[in-house]
Amino acid sequence: MAREMTEKQTSVYTAPIVRFAPSPTGFLHIGGARTALFNWLYAKAKGGTFLLRIEDTDRARNSEEAIGAIIDGLKWLELDWTGEPVSQFSRAHSHKEAAEELLAAGHAYRCFLTKEELDDMRARAEAERLPLTIRSPWRDRPASEAPDHMPFTIRLKAPREGETVIEDHVQGRVVFPNKDLDDLILLRSDGVPTYNLAVVVDDHDMGVTHVIRGVDHLTNAARQTQIYKGLGWNVPEFSHVPLIHGPDGAKLSKRHGALGVEAYRAMGYLPEALRNYLVRLGWSHGDDEIISTAQLIEWFDVDGIGKSPARFDFAKLEALNAHYIRAASDEELFDRAVHILPEISGGDSIAKALARGASPRFRAAIPSLKERSKTLIDLINGAAYVFASRPIELDDKAAKAIDEEARHMLAELLARLKSAKAWDAAALEADVRTFAEETGRKLGKVAQPLRAALTGSTVSPPVFDVMAVLGEEESIARIADHAAHS
Ligand code: GLU
Repeated sequence: MAREMTEKQTSVYTAPIVRFAPSPTGFLHIGGARTALFNWLYAKAKGGTFLLRIEDTDRARNSEEAIGAIIDGLKWLELDWTGEPVSQFSRAHSHKEAAEELLAAGHAYRCFLTKEELDDMRARAEAERLPLTIRSPWRDRPASEAPDHMPFTIRLKAPREGETVIEDHVQGRVVFPNKDLDDLILLRSDGVPTYNLAVVVDDHDMGVTHVIRGVDHLTNAARQTQIYKGLGWNVPEFSHVPLIHGPDGAKLSKRHGALGVEAYRAMGYLPEALRNYLVRLGWSHGDDEIISTAQLIEWFDVDGIGKSPARFDFAKLEALNAHYIRAASDEELFDRAVHILPEISGGDSIAKALARGASPRFRAAIPSLKERSKTLIDLINGAAYVFASRPIELDDKAAKAIDEEARHMLAELLARLKSAKAWDAAALEADVRTFAEETGRKLGKVAQPLRAALTGSTVSPPVFDVMAVLGEEESIARIADHAAHS
């Protein structure tokens, strides 16, 4: 297989039809999500249509659960498609019809090769260390010579001379010598259509004009082109996208991000951040890193997709997510955080706290938390003090911070706070600073025990924000719980 660069091609279609065609053997993994995104963006950018086809022909490996997870993942990423998802399995009759058509036109033949004969060919190829290229005698032998009641497959009569050429928008001109491509099976002996036949017939019947998918399908593109030509159908335009690798350049492993999109949702990423991140894994627009979906729709084209594999980088994803968290409205963050509670550890007790009335305080905590959260999990963890109930449990460091002297200081401070004129972060900060100065204490000596009493921890959002969020009554009560009684 030779690959050469070619000039940039221009599409002959004005309104493209693209599709995402996952096999439902697992969750919507990150590579599939990026393929879906590229197709969705292409349709949006060109005023085209984005379709969804579930490639559910492998009955043993498919599950309803996986189909549900793929659909959920796409919905969460907000990649909407037109119409109902198409089930490839349910279209088996059309696939068979196409095979019959090829047979009738002399572009396919019934092959009676037995399993033993095929095993022999395989063994010979192995012994000679040659790639297995099936040469069936039935290609040129009339079926009438076949023994009665022998099972047969239907094979494509693929051209043996010349080349099959893919003018790929990403990979360039890719040339496959036809001598290397054997006569692929279209229908198995049990009448079940093969994958390549099903894809061609479905893409044709769905009116697909552009196929954007992983580069692992490049050889299939050559085989599919031969089927298209046999059927006399237009070949769609191809864009085969490089795979996603780990940060070390090796195949993407679980540890390095090869997860389902639902795992990213549970890790607290926002869909707009993941979209921005995924599109940059392979596609670029100058040096732009933060690109809104509206801008992506304006700029996206397959010609901007690079040929070398992209490397997954969690730190970049986090930085983008932090940006989108800061940019999101408080209400949206509240909703999204509440939405993922069932998926995270400790989420149950937080949901209970919200049901008991912590919602207004959680809402109030979001503006200061979102400035310092990389993920929704950071946001939720940062709000732990909101969900805690009195008496606040102190962690080890907080317990150390509230020593005897601190308990007396808190009692003094409490008296002062009870007469606070205004209960907002700025006024409280001014009061506490004045208190520290007047009593000859460093601000830290006041703020740290105060923080410990209010949150049970020595790390929290700014303590005056915490007091404002908790409100006067709750703050006073929490401080009183740890203040010395005189
Ligand atoms: N079902 C194939 C996959 O999940 C995609 C086939 C295609 O896009 O043509 O890899």
